[in-house]
Amino acid sequence: MILHEPVDSGETERCVVRLLLGLLLCCSLLAGGRATAADRLETLPLHAGQTQAELAAATRYAVDADATATPQQMFAAADAGQRFAPLPDGSATFGFVDGAYWFHLRLANVDAADTRWLLVLDYALLDEVDLYVRDVDGRVEHAASGDLRPFAQRAVSYREPNFWLTLTPGRPLDLLLRTQSRSSMQVPLTLYAPSAFLVLTRDTQFGMGLYYGILLALLFYNLILFASLRDRSHFLYSLHVAGFGLVLFCLNGLAFEYFWPNSPWLANAAVPMSMALAMLAMHLFARDFLELPRRSPLANRLLLALIGAHLLMLLASPLLPYRTAVLIGTALVFPGVAAIIAAAVTVARRGFRPALLFLVSWAMLLTGTLSYAAVSFGLLPRTFVTEYGMQIGSAAEMIFLSFALAYRWAALREENERIAHEANERLEQRVAERTEALSGALQQLGEVHARLHELSARDGLTGVFNRRHFEQMFAPQLAECLQHARPYSLLIADLDHFKRVNDDHGHLTGDDCLRSIAAILQRCAGGRGAVARFGGEEFVVLMPDTDELGARRTAEAIRQRVAAEVFALDGGRQLRLTVSIGAATVAAGADAAAEALLRRADDALYEAKRGGRNRVVQGSAAA
Ligand code: GH3
Ligand code: MG
Ligand code: MG
Repeated sequence: MILHEPVDSGETERCVVRLLLGLLLCCSLLAGGRATAADRLETLPLHAGQTQAELAAATRYAVDADATATPQQMFAAADAGQRFAPLPDGSATFGFVDGAYWFHLRLANVDAADTRWLLVLDYALLDEVDLYVRDVDGRVEHAASGDLRPFAQRAVSYREPNFWLTLTPGRPLDLLLRTQSRSSMQVPLTLYAPSAFLVLTRDTQFGMGLYYGILLALLFYNLILFASLRDRSHFLYSLHVAGFGLVLFCLNGLAFEYFWPNSPWLANAAVPMSMALAMLAMHLFARDFLELPRRSPLANRLLLALIGAHLLMLLASPLLPYRTAVLIGTALVFPGVAAIIAAAVTVARRGFRPALLFLVSWAMLLTGTLSYAAVSFGLLPRTFVTEYGMQIGSAAEMIFLSFALAYRWAALREENERIAHEANERLEQRVAERTEALSGALQQLGEVHARLHELSARDGLTGVFNRRHFEQMFAPQLAECLQHARPYSLLIADLDHFKRVNDDHGHLTGDDCLRSIAAILQRCAGGRGAVARFGGEEFVVLMPDTDELGARRTAEAIRQRVAAEVFALDGGRQLRLTVSIGAATVAAGADAAAEALLRRADDALYEAKRGGRNRVVQGSAAA
């Protein structure tokens, strides 16, 4: 069957895959100029001084839908002017197609100096490439390449399929190239003299070295950061760089050349697997960097679903047919990119500033990709920047993301410091509050204690000191006075016939009277004397620094005040009381025991009672 029409059904897929996957460093097809359609086969001449030739214009192709044609049949068809047609739009790009594709061209060295030429197929992913070379004698030589064949079979150890041709003047060659592939069918052919190939490899290897060098530096730098900072973002970022780098490494044919030259199976399976890994890492990184679980649960769920899909693809792609795996993987790129951009915009609008940096870095990657796409569509001229847009964009994205990580790290640290500072302040405030409360409580406790102490020293009825307190203070007070050779006096006052008051007017009236008497005693004792209830209706007055005269005056004042006091009773009745007082003094410089002094005062009181009551008796020192 002869097919002259280009296969339209693959057009969309072709563009998609070229945009996102097709990273051909020397894609000569797109800029290679539009071929003028030539219906008849022309021989491509090689002239003096020429070191390189684009072959698209001289190439004709035929589709072998069931892949059964033999080279003999195809040589015969080409000789007869059958089956072969010029390349559609001068470009050997057909998308995902079935069957085998045959390409035919004729080369003749007119007067070129070089006789050894290298035919390079500028697309690394083709499965099978078979070259049949027929010389003027009709002898056919066969050479095989493609990534389903071991790497060692290649003419030159180069990431793309290549073949040596010997072109001597006067001996033109008929080339028949058969390709079959589950990946996109792209067969851009270029012929290089060794010197030109040297320049090409030097330039592209330099560019690639630069690009992968940047990626490796970023990868290790962030792995080291992860090891020291223990921040998961750096690890996921490293995974993103590794995944993305691996995709390009596979697409450039370098992974086959350097990683697994003896495993054509892995050379193919690695393409969808690295795509899935790169997407998986990108989603994990975006989710972590944008803090989606905390900042946007909806976006988080969306990304988790996509992460699940990419994980599934990573595991399933080695088992799926190659083309299915690549197509699903490519199709997943679109919702993935859209979801990540939507998530970043969402959290950026909610005020998370690192998300802006994230968007800027993504914009770089997308700009690079778009410029590459624009070149593919012929919208932008093919320049270094546009052709290497993906590489430049992704390198810029990764470098910028690295900065974004550092920025985010700094922002997080600042936030942590602020939180710690606030927590500290709150803690200090609470400590101050607690301390204040505690000291308040302590003060209250002290007051209560003092009050209890005071109460325990007082008599419940009259409020003057009680007997216990009197006994505690009397001897030490006396001792201190004597020690400093100062006088000391003691009064004992006993109400006269007080029993009658109780009997005649009741105990409550008696209590009132006792309170009033205690108040009179306290007033008369003044600031220096201390009054205590000795028992029943008896009181003592302790008078440090008071000599006999002072004691007498005070005792007399008490007696008179009590006698003068009129106690008002219910029903307008009145009551008067008197008091008998015994006084005892230790003169300045003299000595006496507390007990002796008390007994002397008591004796004096007894004397006062006996003497007729309502009087003061001073006990003699000798008594
Ligand atoms: P004297 O002049 O000899 O001191 O006679 P007196 O009645 O005052 O002495 P006595 O010792 O016989 O009686 C003291 C009375 O004081 C007995 C008691 O009824 C009364 N008394 C003692 N303590 C209290 C008290 O706390 N309240 C009241 N209302 N009366 C008390
Ligand atoms: Mg008494
Ligand atoms: Mg009495």
